[in-house]
Amino acid sequence: KLHNEIQELKGNIRVYCRIRPFLPGQKDKQSTVDYIGENGELIVFNPSKPEKESRRSFKFNKVYGPHATQAEVYGDIQQLVQSVLDGYNVCIFAYGQTGSGKTYTMSGPDKGSQEEWGVNYRALNDLFRISQNRSTYKYEVGVQMVEIYNEQVRDLLASDTTPKRYPFIVNCFSLTQEYLLTVQTLGILSTASLAVPDANMREVNEPSDVLRVMETGFKNRARSSTSMNERSSRSHSVVTIHVHGTDLKNGGSVTAGLHLVDLAGSERIDRAEVVGDRLKEAQHINKSLAALGDVIFSLAQKSPHVPFRNSKLTQLLQASLGGQAKTLMLVQLNPEASSYAESLGTLKFAERVS
Ligand code: ADP
Ligand code: MG
Repeated sequence: KLHNEIQELKGNIRVYCRIRPFLPGQKDKQSTVDYIGENGELIVFNPSKPEKESRRSFKFNKVYGPHATQAEVYGDIQQLVQSVLDGYNVCIFAYGQTGSGKTYTMSGPDKGSQEEWGVNYRALNDLFRISQNRSTYKYEVGVQMVEIYNEQVRDLLASDTTPKRYPFIVNCFSLTQEYLLTVQTLGILSTASLAVPDANMREVNEPSDVLRVMETGFKNRARSSTSMNERSSRSHSVVTIHVHGTDLKNGGSVTAGLHLVDLAGSERIDRAEVVGDRLKEAQHINKSLAALGDVIFSLAQKSPHVPFRNSKLTQLLQASLGGQAKTLMLVQLNPEASSYAESLGTLKFAERVS
């Protein structure tokens, strides 16, 4: 109970950590992380040093070992997702180095079975299903997908829809700083739904729409570059699920949304080794991940000033961070010995905000 209260005080931020399994065919299977049972604790150490010297322990709200299934992970997230239908804005993001399982957790493997579906599909499916079954409310569910690359926002559903106006959605880049500050300071449920750019929105009217909309978005993400993995690890992808419900008895309404974010890889890039576009990309990624860390840190500290304006990412996510919003950080770890330094960096980032 005390733990819950502390979470309340910390601005509704929770942190779950997931260690991905070694991949088939991988030879060196010496792990750099030790996962300790049920209490959210884990230990990281440098396999090339005496264990005692390099051991560091961390504690989060939950830790998933390599055998955790997609269903298990989603099972712990489901309530958070469902709270969107009661008017809470929610942000769920995956953080970690490239290859640590962010996309696996958020989307699942390419062409995966339903069992392998990641958080994105399960969340959208869930919200749609539940909204269909509530008889006293009429809900509309819509999805947007954008990618942020080098501080530019690109609509991943652009070619797929005829533009349609949604009066309950506000373009975040046209909101005044003053308005945002007021909403933030009052800590009220956002009256204007999630702030999103003018990206196309696809309505979800039947279960098959869930798959179709996700596939369209991810295909567009891939199309933009010669190598999907290359590009997708350097951009943030943001799926936004909007829910607008009308109470059929009294005409009241509820508007809220869910941001599902697959962040760019957090690995440090050696400045000496990259130039030109790569250097620019790396700088943009560093800047935006640092901005996200700063925002969540400020929220956790209950700081009066939260620096949302420092990156496109934090501007975009503003309505689902802080205030009454609920935030979940999924920290992804690659267990390989060679990833020790990156894993430690990832854990330190997570520790600062948790
Ligand atoms: P990232 O998006 O962080 O770069 P990926 O999600 O692409 O990482 O994961 C890297 C590789 O590991 C992929 O081949 C993915 O299918 C696999 N993988 C990641 N997490 C798991 C998991 N929990 N179970 C099985 N395979 C996984
Ligand atoms: Mg990825």
